[in-house]
Amino acid sequence: MAKTRATGKTLDSHIVKGINKSIKPGDCVLMRSPDPSKPSYVAKLKKIESDNRGSHVNVHVQWYYRPEETIGGRKRFHGIKEVFLSDHHDIQRADTIEGKCTVHTFKSYTKLDAVGNDDFFCRFEYKSSTGDFNPNKAVVYCKCEMPYNPDDLMVQCDGCSDWFHPTCIDMTAEEAKRMEHFFCQSCLSDEQKLLQNSHVIPRHSPMKVDSKRRRR
Ligand SMILES: [Zn+2]
Ligand SMILES: [Zn+2]
Repeated sequence: MAKTRATGKTLDSHIVKGINKSIKPGDCVLMRSPDPSKPSYVAKLKKIESDNRGSHVNVHVQWYYRPEETIGGRKRFHGIKEVFLSDHHDIQRADTIEGKCTVHTFKSYTKLDAVGNDDFFCRFEYKSSTGDFNPNKAVVYCKCEMPYNPDDLMVQCDGCSDWFHPTCIDMTAEEAKRMEHFFCQSCLSDEQKLLQNSHVIPRHSPMKVDSKRRRR
């Protein structure tokens, strides 16, 4: 990624010729990678400027990293469309912009009816020099204690409200989808213990609902 020193006029917006789309600071864009086998880079536009003659337009960007581009690499809980807002800033030529995209919050991403090619989501910031994430903790679910991957199907326990991967509870995705009520193993055994130890069968089981475990 070559840097340029040209300083010129700051622009409020600019039409990228190749794609005939108007860009402005704050937009998220896809930028051509010099390696054609790699997916496009995802960036947030911070500033647009033209050189003094107006022949070249450069954009100041803040890169979003894909999981593969981080020091730790892709983890099982990383979504296909997950990106991390990095502290890595750069200056690029505006004509390497291939299109605009949307980087959703995690919550709004999980509520999308359909995920388009240009939809991404970001739930962590990434420090490119150290490989650290912010926040450095995530709520974990299931027996495998993984943060939620929005690409994976999960079923919720009616007892403890935890979420489970069908494969982690010896179930197929089809079985999980058909199920109307699900109680995880520990909720079932709690229920059984209660029934065995008490003469009065409680109408509502008084078991404690574990708050979500927090860990890295
Ligand atoms: Zn699991
Ligand atoms: Zn449960």
